[in-house]
Amino acid sequence: MNASKLDCQPHGNAKLIVREPRPADPLLSIVVPVFNEESMSVIFLREIRSVLHDAELRFQIIFVDDGSTDQTLIKLIEVSESNASIQVISFSRNFGKEAALTAGIDYAQGDVVIPMDVDLQDPPELIPQFISKWREGFDVVYGLRVSRSSDTLMKRQTAGLFYRFFNRVSEVQLPENAGDFRLIDRRVVEVLRKLPERNRFMKGLFAWAGFTSIGVPYERQERQADTTKWNYWKLWNFALDGVVGFSTTPLRVWAYLGAFVAALAFGYGSFIVLRVLMLGTDVPGYASLMTAILFLGGIQLLSMGILGEYLGRLFIAVKGRPVYIIETIFKNGRRVHEGSLNE
Ligand code: UDP
Ligand code: MG
Repeated sequence: MNASKLDCQPHGNAKLIVREPRPADPLLSIVVPVFNEESMSVIFLREIRSVLHDAELRFQIIFVDDGSTDQTLIKLIEVSESNASIQVISFSRNFGKEAALTAGIDYAQGDVVIPMDVDLQDPPELIPQFISKWREGFDVVYGLRVSRSSDTLMKRQTAGLFYRFFNRVSEVQLPENAGDFRLIDRRVVEVLRKLPERNRFMKGLFAWAGFTSIGVPYERQERQADTTKWNYWKLWNFALDGVVGFSTTPLRVWAYLGAFVAALAFGYGSFIVLRVLMLGTDVPGYASLMTAILFLGGIQLLSMGILGEYLGRLFIAVKGRPVYIIETIFKNGRRVHEGSLNE
């Protein structure tokens, strides 16, 4: 699937007005959620550090250990001991990638923040290009996958379907084929940090924040080691979070459907009454009755299910539990912070 031309065009302000001059030597915060990635973490670090050193960029790397049950955390603490640019935030349990990204963005100190997957599917070589676009004045520079050949046909199809549906029902438009891999300016980071949402569908939140943005195309590689942490059930729930978090269309559509069905029922009812008046009572009608009952029953259950999706999220939002719980933060291999809720 090729990235459409439109996606590579700048969004937002057509004339780029750089409100503040960009710092000459910006600090990059690379935010990396990791969940059971003991082999990938080390490979990733080697790669990213060589790219950033070659480009002479100042950086910090924030690993968010999303409750790994393998040796990931121990390995990360080890590497952070000898390297001041590496910080490790460890969660009290697995909260999911979106929560990990949220924590990384909350704690990042850089002038720009770059969320990345640890499996090198987001190529570090793209970062210097991101930076040069940022210097031109763009606040958000996102990676655009020109080919998803590393994904299965089924995943590509379902992803395409999701983006089309999402963009149709939601006011916020997601660029197709863009993932979480992007550069975001401090201004946008501050907006994201202020959002009180419990439902952290980050792609949607990035798009919701707006600002001048542009896509940079790249080839998405295969995962280099270990396996993906997503299955179709998780992806389905992720898609539901996205749609329900950014659109009320699924709730509102029932009013129209209801009106349509009611109009049909009224028409058919009038027809039956007239027929009885003119031709007398008529006993048969089992099939049409059954069909109507089943059809309406189905629609009612479906619409109740959709109400449930929203109600469930409302319930979670009202409880106001934090998006993640940090067990410890490590800098230079030492604990600097223990057990707290995010504010
Ligand atoms: N990840 C995470 N928490 C989870 C699942 C995944 O932090 O519950 C991280 C994972 O370690 C990786 C990134 O999210 O850095 C993307 O995961 P993966 O490569 O499995 O996803 P895919 O590329 O298949 O979408
Ligand atoms: Mg991956």
